[in-house]
Amino acid sequence: MYKALIDRLEKENNLTAEEYLELIRHREEIRNYAAERAVSVRKEYYGNKVFIRALIEFTNYCRNNCYYCGIRAGNANAERYRLTADEIIACADEGYVLGFRTFVMQGGEDPYFTDDILCDIIRRIKKNHPDCAVTLSLGERSFESYKALKEAGADRYLLRHETCDPEHYKKLHPDSMSYDNRMRCLTELKSLGYQVGAGFMVGSPYQTENDLANEMVFLREFNPQMVGIGPFIPHKDTPFGEYKSGTAEMTVFLLSLIRLTLPRVLLPATTALGTVDPKGREKGILAGANVLMPNLSPLHARKKYMLYDNKICTGDEAAKCIACLSERIKSTGYEIVTDRGDYSNGI
Ligand code: SAH
Repeated sequence: MYKALIDRLEKENNLTAEEYLELIRHREEIRNYAAERAVSVRKEYYGNKVFIRALIEFTNYCRNNCYYCGIRAGNANAERYRLTADEIIACADEGYVLGFRTFVMQGGEDPYFTDDILCDIIRRIKKNHPDCAVTLSLGERSFESYKALKEAGADRYLLRHETCDPEHYKKLHPDSMSYDNRMRCLTELKSLGYQVGAGFMVGSPYQTENDLANEMVFLREFNPQMVGIGPFIPHKDTPFGEYKSGTAEMTVFLLSLIRLTLPRVLLPATTALGTVDPKGREKGILAGANVLMPNLSPLHARKKYMLYDNKICTGDEAAKCIACLSERIKSTGYEIVTDRGDYSNGI
């Protein structure tokens, strides 16, 4: 019976929230089949290719106070840093040599990085590497700001919605932040022509299986080009420091459901997934994910960009990181490619 639901999902890319919930509740029985079908769908669009994105964590200053996040403004123990424009450009140049064709600039909401400063950095990266994509992950900004960044050459924007339930959103964020503003940002980013990434943490405090079923419906409706999900992992210096981590098994199962719902989606097996399970990223790829985002930030910054405790890959230099990942991916029968890896740019 659950097989029939998976088959219908594969065929129609759509189920009701109740049906998704049935699958989530009975995932033990159906996870292997879901992964098999998800991998088959992914192969249709992307073959054996796994895309890599160079993640440049360029500032851990943040004006926000998300209850889950280790770089929240209120964490006085976080040692703050920001990379200079030249350091960011140098990261991209190094990444290019290593085979990366997408650079992801991610950071806290740092007021230092005005539109002028960011546009200048984006233009410089695009000038050095016209064959590359620039992805931004800088949180909530104004329409004018998103527009200016797009005109400077940014191609994609990652902004996880974190939860599709406004009440749940309030439990994860202080009153200064709102679900409505998050959604405003996502809608505007789409209207500006960015390839947009939404997403959420798996097992965040107060999240229920029913919420996860609703997430699948939300993703289906919003239809983003990218979806980032990873387990919630507590950070000791946050209000959620004592909460439990989300699990790799739930995350991996949801990756399969997302692939079957949005067949062409660009879907990373995240660092958080590799943190809760040493083989998490490989399991993610084998369940339908097709993107990896290794950290390319300079070593001195790595240990300071701690969104959660025990984050992996904070000690190795970039070249070593990519060699390790390539081996891991080959062991699963997939192949890392030097490619921008755009949406629906598959085979
Ligand atoms: N400030 C930017 C990007 C940095 S945070 C933004 O708001 O989009 C990137 C993502 O890390 C967040 O969207 C969140 O889903 C995830 N994250 C933050 N804290 C986490 C934690 N404790 N465990 C797992 N993921 C976390």
